Amino acid sequence: MKGKEKIVIVGGGFAGLNLVKKLDKSKFEVVLVDRNNYHSFPPLFYQIASSGLDPGSISFPYRREMRKLSSKGARYQMGNVEQIDVVNKTVKTSLDTIKYDKLVIAAGTTNNFFGMDDLHKKVYTLKSTPEAIRCRNEVLDRLERASVCHDPEERRRLLSFVVIGGGPTGVEVAGAIGEMKRYILHREYPDISVDELSITLVEGTDRLLRTMSETASREALEYLGHLMVDVKLGKIMKSYENDVVAFADGEEIYSEMVIWTAGVTGEPMEIVGTEFQRGPGNRFVVDEYNRIKGLEDVFALGDIALMMGGDYPKGHPQMAQVAIQQAALLAKHLNKGEFKQAFKYNDKGSMATVGRNRAVADLNHMHLYGRPAWLAWMFVHLISILGMRNKISVLMNWIWAYCTYSTSLRLLIHTSKYPLRRRWNEDLN
Ligand SMILES: Cc1cc2nc3c(=O)[nH]c(=O)nc-3n(C[C@H](O)[C@H](O)[C@H](O)COP(=O)(O)OP(=O)(O)OC[C@H]3O[C@@H](n4cnc5c(N)ncnc54)[C@H](O)[C@@H]3O)c2cc1C
Repeated sequence: MKGKEKIVIVGGGFAGLNLVKKLDKSKFEVVLVDRNNYHSFPPLFYQIASSGLDPGSISFPYRREMRKLSSKGARYQMGNVEQIDVVNKTVKTSLDTIKYDKLVIAAGTTNNFFGMDDLHKKVYTLKSTPEAIRCRNEVLDRLERASVCHDPEERRRLLSFVVIGGGPTGVEVAGAIGEMKRYILHREYPDISVDELSITLVEGTDRLLRTMSETASREALEYLGHLMVDVKLGKIMKSYENDVVAFADGEEIYSEMVIWTAGVTGEPMEIVGTEFQRGPGNRFVVDEYNRIKGLEDVFALGDIALMMGGDYPKGHPQMAQVAIQQAALLAKHLNKGEFKQAFKYNDKGSMATVGRNRAVADLNHMHLYGRPAWLAWMFVHLISILGMRNKISVLMNWIWAYCTYSTSLRLLIHTSKYPLRRRWNEDLN
């Protein structure tokens, strides 16, 4: 490694992992740091939460990827990055301190609770694989308990699900629970009647999927209606106390299981050695080459980067394609040692699915809905998942579930309580 510049990359998501692959390892020693030892695929977290897929089929171990790259000078190291010292050029993780010549922050975002005290301790979220597993277990646990409960009121309380946030994640997870209600309940939980389970999807603005076309919003609303999801638009959640969700207009809904998908904010990590402030959304303000303004030799990519200007005065959408394209361009610049080409986002469109055979897709010059959109959605997601084993596993699960209306994944697996031992990352998820 002698003589090579050392590039440390924080976060192996869409941006970080693509950058590792594309950097010229004959020029750089590359260290990828991530708090998890696997790459995840967030667009399908909702399918873990609804028992549609197992977590292993949308996760990919970094060390397997690094096996191919390690001989060339790239390695993975586990750790939660807590502090960056821009004077001594070090990254402090929960396990180690690492020196860098150049640093790339690609740590993505975490849930935003908009200052509501303690909400993070009360609601279910979908920003990571452990959060999605937690959500799945809770849904299954409630179905099992309701099926042996003799008090009709208690059964309704157990089965009242509220999803906050009508963006793609909220729509998809509400649709997936709706599918369980419509197609699975009478097959696998015959003791529960369909009208005992309620799903309410709440959105603060006047339409669902507000980053997509109005047509897509209307269609998604119609599809959710078919899956017996009650959609409430223009409702702002004010508080969640004692299992009661209270809204600004005075309405209240009782729910012991609230799934929060309403907002994100940049992953926290302390910058020391200089006066430095992040931009809106706790994102790092970058120039058109993804260099963080005000910091030297530090770059930001993907969801945590805020590049304002041109067609995107408020920054690019926090989507996988932006992260992937920024990573490719930064690798090109670092490999060449010069920064000449400003980033230009090639928007390939967006899509969301609402149960089997139903999806909406706003593509470049085309809008798709229904089955064609659903097939396009499946194709795009399948080709984007890392690893052939994972692609095959996901495809098999989808085909099986489509043909049988069933999966073998509705397993309620709790971790054991003993032995008691402090985990290094127990506060993270
Ligand atoms: C539920 C959900 C559904 C989505 N659906 C879609 C979709 O359908 N289409 C689409 O285009 N986009 C979708 N997105 C958005 C998309 O996932 C993000 O835009 C994309 O993942 C951003 O890539 P990234 O590399 O910036 O961050 P990420 O992919 O989030 O990766 C960040 C990485 O950094 C690691 N990390 C974070 N903090 C630290 C730390 N302090 N120390 C060490 N490691 C750290 C994390 O473990 C993670 O591996 C979805 C997101 C979610 C949450």
